[in-house]
Amino acid sequence: MIYKKSISALLYLAFFGGSVFAQVDDHCGTTSYLARKKSEVPSLENRMNSIETQTQQWVQEHHGEKLRSFLYIPVVVHVVYKTAAQNISDAQIASEITVLNEDYSFNNPDRGWSPSVFWPILGVPQIQFCMAERDPNGNWTAGITRTQTNVDAFTNDDKVKFDSLGGINAWPADKYLNIWVCNLGNGYLGYSSFPGFPANIDGVVIKYTCFGRGVGALDPTYNKGRSCTHEIGHWMNLIHIWGDSNCGNDYVSDTPIQLQANYGCPTFPHVTNCSGNAPNGDLFMDFMDYTDDRCMNMFSAGQVDRMNASLVLTRSWISTSLSCVINSTANLEALSNEIQFYPNPSSCDYSITLPNYDGKDMIVDIYNLEGKKLREIKFSGIKNQKAQISLNDLESGIYFAKVSFGDILVIRKLILQK
Ligand SMILES: [Zn+2]
Repeated sequence: MIYKKSISALLYLAFFGGSVFAQVDDHCGTTSYLARKKSEVPSLENRMNSIETQTQQWVQEHHGEKLRSFLYIPVVVHVVYKTAAQNISDAQIASEITVLNEDYSFNNPDRGWSPSVFWPILGVPQIQFCMAERDPNGNWTAGITRTQTNVDAFTNDDKVKFDSLGGINAWPADKYLNIWVCNLGNGYLGYSSFPGFPANIDGVVIKYTCFGRGVGALDPTYNKGRSCTHEIGHWMNLIHIWGDSNCGNDYVSDTPIQLQANYGCPTFPHVTNCSGNAPNGDLFMDFMDYTDDRCMNMFSAGQVDRMNASLVLTRSWISTSLSCVINSTANLEALSNEIQFYPNPSSCDYSITLPNYDGKDMIVDIYNLEGKKLREIKFSGIKNQKAQISLNDLESGIYFAKVSFGDILVIRKLILQK
């Protein structure tokens, strides 16, 4: 049976009193980073305490609820490099997005490797990640920035997040998950902000040798993309599974209390000397432990509750994000601008450029200057970014094309010169 932790006010205060963060961390730079930020940013501790109170209340009321089918988080990856090796390829970046989508939907190939005693607490976050398709100015983007730096190695001090300090500024944190990939020193694989952090430092930072799977020069111990899975867990308010303290509390009710971080690849059961840990021992295959990439494969249901709370309470922008999945009218202006006719003027044939909005029907109505509809041309299930119309049976003159495409409706003036 899994030990159920009770979340007491006393432990809560101890946790947020900050003393447990005094320990030196390694592997993940988030714990010392959090402690430092709380001392640097005056309002941060109060803000996080308030978020924690709301989180615990939300989890109590919504435990185990299935909130949605899937939620899509637009990602921008900022590659900050000094050497060519650090300037990781688009393919390496894409491989990390694949890992995230597997791990956050429990479709990871190693998902069945957890001991069966832990199966009852398996959690499925139902979160997907996609490269941002629009930059902050509304222009098309691959969701990747590349910045050359003269910094040999960054650490968990946020310098990589600022143009002026050798890195690159965050894209708006209420529209994107910012991921910086760089050379991280001090043994860190990554570090992350928590909900409540200032927007200009919100996001995760990952060492370039731990980002992605199967592509690029990866650290053989951390070559399955799990550093990013772990750090995004922090970004959605998960704490290390040992609670950053001996037999500490991670504020998740279903994860066993465990003594400390696990490294390498322990053998089940890995029993540690905490009340309630035996007989099944640590949940060392949890993404929020420190085990090798090949040995971690799950979140717990309680962790998913906590992530869901963060998405509802502090990252609710994700449900209305415009930068990734094209499903909102507010994004239509930018999309509409994509629809152009060329050449214009033309002697009879026009090509039409379309936004990346595949699989939709498009109707082009042609009107004359008097507003009389002359043609209705229907294209079914457009599958590329181009279409063509011919007006070779009309006289020279000025016409209007009304284009209906998905949610888009635009009117363009066409000049026909025979
Ligand atoms: Zn961590």
